[in-house]
Amino acid sequence: MDAQDMGRDLADVLISEEEIRARLGEIAAQVDADYAGRDLLLVGVLKGAVMVMADFARALHGPAEMDWMAVSSYGSGTKSSGVVRILKDLDRDVLGRDVLIVEDIIDSGLTLSWLVANLRSRGAASVEVMALLRKPDAAKVTVDVKYVGFDIPNAFVVGYGLDFAERYRNLRVVGTLAEHVYSS
Ligand code: 5GP
Ligand code: MG
Ligand code: MG
Repeated sequence: MDAQDMGRDLADVLISEEEIRARLGEIAAQVDADYAGRDLLLVGVLKGAVMVMADFARALHGPAEMDWMAVSSYGSGTKSSGVVRILKDLDRDVLGRDVLIVEDIIDSGLTLSWLVANLRSRGAASVEVMALLRKPDAAKVTVDVKYVGFDIPNAFVVGYGLDFAERYRNLRVVGTLAEHVYSS
């Protein structure tokens, strides 16, 4: 990987650019096989899933449609509550569509389980989930994530779409931030 200047703000690189690329390729091959002959609709969740969507969608061989939602989870501080507000809805109807939600990371999974239920209630033919990262707490929620990139430890990570105070989304790797970033 070409070093990016902000790499100095990292304590650890958990997942390299090459590892992300390779894993997304594997998942794309699986999704191509699972959805062969079906009309796949990828639903990206803004803003975190922008990078995953861009690379994953291009790793697919089939002509998938892309749409986006932005949601905000009510709750205090950094814990999501599961009460969700739609900030930007899908442009197109999902009635009868095979939907694959594309997510950056599953932590509590509360936002995601709301989203899955919401898209099912609109009459999607199927709703599955692909997440680049999954944290251990996700096991507590009964949302079935069909495709997972990497299981990671319970640490706050940034990069590849994931932010700290809206920054570091453009980092090419996934990593943890150095102490000096939080204290400055
Ligand atoms: P959940 O509802 O699963 O608890 O919340 C998932 C959302 O919380 C993710 O889409 C992401 O925006 C945020 N999130 C959870 N864990 C992390 C993390 O380690 N780093 C960052 N930057 N965001 C996270
Ligand atoms: Mg997300
Ligand atoms: Mg965030």
